[in-house]
Amino acid sequence: MSAAKFEQIGRAFREHQRFAVLGHVRPDGDALGSQLALALSLKQLGKDVSVWNEDGMLEKYSFLSRAELLTKPPSTPEDVDVAIALDTAIQNRLGTALKAIRSAKIWINIDHHPSNPGYGDLVYIDPIAPATGQILFELIKNQKLPLDRDIAENLYVAISTDTGSFQYPNTTARTFEIAAELVRAGVDVGPVSQQVYENFPRRRVELLRELLRTMRFEGKGRVASFSLSLKTAAELKVISEDNEGLIDHLRAIRGVVVAVFFEELADGKVRVSMRSKNEKVDVCAICQKFGGGGHTLAAGARIQGPLAEVEERVLKAICDVVDCNS
Ligand code: 5GP
Ligand code: MN
Repeated sequence: MSAAKFEQIGRAFREHQRFAVLGHVRPDGDALGSQLALALSLKQLGKDVSVWNEDGMLEKYSFLSRAELLTKPPSTPEDVDVAIALDTAIQNRLGTALKAIRSAKIWINIDHHPSNPGYGDLVYIDPIAPATGQILFELIKNQKLPLDRDIAENLYVAISTDTGSFQYPNTTARTFEIAAELVRAGVDVGPVSQQVYENFPRRRVELLRELLRTMRFEGKGRVASFSLSLKTAAELKVISEDNEGLIDHLRAIRGVVVAVFFEELADGKVRVSMRSKNEKVDVCAICQKFGGGGHTLAAGARIQGPLAEVEERVLKAICDVVDCNS
């Protein structure tokens, strides 16, 4: 089944000329690395490729090979042969990149979010895959698409970031085999890891200090949360990419099952980020109650504020599932 789907996607790649490779708003390493990797492979096939993300290339990931190829989408919509959505559970989460496609003969949807409803003409969703980058590696190998050092590095960053540096339970033997192949293809693990994990601006650590001041626990320490107000964000001159991964400090606490990060947004909503350490506590299901989604162990939602009210509603919903009273 997967081989047949890869064959259809590979054929669409070979038979068309004009491509747009898109990823979700507020991108992470998997979205950006996947977008660049696939775009580079298609370019090597001689295709015309645009790589668009609503947020453009993040400062944090600007070290990625050929990062300059990824831009904000144009304001005037364009016609393409094939539009490809990567790592994007809901088509709307493509944001302005979706609006930039006036027409596409084929929409391809490649993702690993279980909540992805399967929009598009050619759909490949593998909810077991720890990263969209891992699916792309399998596709590239299966269809004998180009894979050079630049492509390998982008795939490596996609997989490394979405597996929490090969630590989350969805990391399998296959993930390590793929990592090994990517290293053989030229990825220099030390420098790449330093760029991803040891190159944060001081501002981000100052933000962590403020977040820890707001840290609270419910349910006998099973639920940990902290929050970021617009006021604090403005004082610290925080940019949105600063908070990627900060929630891991809560998850890392002994006894914590669910970690939550609340971020007040300028539009009156609150961005909620949730992590679970127990497969039986499905944070995607909790987030879906609030209109969000994601994976069993990592999910999110945007909920109408005010901040303090959202905190109480969400923490109560978590406590209902985690059974905070027992
Ligand atoms: P993060 O907490 O890192 O922003 O997101 C964790 C996971 O939840 C990601 O896989 C992301 O796709 C999903 N997610 C985050 N925010 C939202 C949201 O507002 N809506 C939906 N449907 N998924 C989200
Ligand atoms: Mn992903």
